[in-house]
Amino acid sequence: MTNIARLRDFVTAATKLVDLHGSDEAALLEAVKPLVADLVAVDDWLPEDYAKPDAQYYRQYLLHADPLERLSVVSFVWGPGQKTPVHDHRVWGVVGVLRGAELSVSYERDAEGKLIAQPEERLERGAVAAVSPTIGDIHTISNALTDKPSISIHVYGGNIGAIHRASFKPETGEEKLFISGYSSTHVPNLWDRSQEGR
Ligand code: FE
Repeated sequence: MTNIARLRDFVTAATKLVDLHGSDEAALLEAVKPLVADLVAVDDWLPEDYAKPDAQYYRQYLLHADPLERLSVVSFVWGPGQKTPVHDHRVWGVVGVLRGAELSVSYERDAEGKLIAQPEERLERGAVAAVSPTIGDIHTISNALTDKPSISIHVYGGNIGAIHRASFKPETGEEKLFISGYSSTHVPNLWDRSQEGR
């Protein structure tokens, strides 16, 4: 049985942080990072439906969206060899690796508008990373494992699946707008407390 209380407690704590820090992105990121680190430190809470890889594409399962769309929590499941395009977010985001390992590459724009890849960073299980329009918003993430799925939990400062954002051709810097949506049509039930205290 999954310990869904861990996800519920995370959602409650993250929502309080959004209330507390509002649009102070730096303060919010500093506070959310340790919370995500705690969430991915123990792998006993993610329901099986939100951990399933797809043979062809990486999956992005919505775990929770704030009713005011100030926050969303998403489970990204990467099959072997799967990778995002070069993309941005347009809101802050914190990534924590729950299973496996991931490779993250940030991109910076040069004077001609081309996107230049920065040194690759390997995120091991338990590692946490952040993106945002102020600290650097353009990257790729891929599964570092060639034989197993990897899973990361992402928290964003908005309803990420509904945000108009861009993917890029790094050689030219040319952008293409997209809305990612989600791979799932349901969310986990955080609110059945009937097993508590048994
Ligand atoms: Fe991303």
